[in-house]
Amino acid sequence: MNFTDLGLSTPILKTLSNSNYSTPTPIQAQAIPAVMDGKDLIGLAQTGTGKTAAFSLPVLHRLSATKPSEPRKLRALILAPTRELATQINDAIWTYSKGLGLRSAFVIGGVPIRKQQRQLAQGIDILVATPGRLEDLISQKSVTLKHIETVVLDEADQMLDIGFMPAIRRILSQTPKSRQTLLFSATMPKEIAALADDHLSDPVEVSV
Ligand code: AMP
Repeated sequence: MNFTDLGLSTPILKTLSNSNYSTPTPIQAQAIPAVMDGKDLIGLAQTGTGKTAAFSLPVLHRLSATKPSEPRKLRALILAPTRELATQINDAIWTYSKGLGLRSAFVIGGVPIRKQQRQLAQGIDILVATPGRLEDLISQKSVTLKHIETVVLDEADQMLDIGFMPAIRRILSQTPKSRQTLLFSATMPKEIAALADDHLSDPVEVSV
């Protein structure tokens, strides 16, 4: 199995070969085809398994398959529990989206909100966010989730531990019901299973 077999577009394959990624990791081999197909997904995987690329590559592939409308509408949202993880995901998205003509941004707490508001106002396709700051920006009308096509919940069990579950449910309720939802978690406590039951539709389950 190699990345070409997964049906990813040429610019993405070029980035992967430039990054010296030769073979998909097990989570990538299982998750990428399902996500490319538009399916919802539950991925049981720890950090270090390559899960960031497992969701980023197919989401970027799908987004780049349609030309962004101008002004750009926010179509993909990635939620992460911590500033550190959001920053890492944003770096990965930046790398993987080279040559795709997509714009991304990340918003985290603990830094001035103004610059984030300006970035959002310019129009982006993809947003990486921690839930608290995202809710602040939504309440200030700096961002709308009306056009979201895909939501990724990364490290859902960590988000639960931090107390973000009510925020996540509120955020999901503002996105279209027709969206694709991808949930990644290292463990499956009952609250996360319930979240998946309530907000995912017939998900493919992969575990590594
Ligand atoms: P993650 O589990 O997403 O935090 O990824 C762990 C590390 O593996 C990151 O440094 C990635 O750049 C790297 N990585 C992810 N997928 C691959 C792959 N298919 N081949 C080589 N390295 C990879």
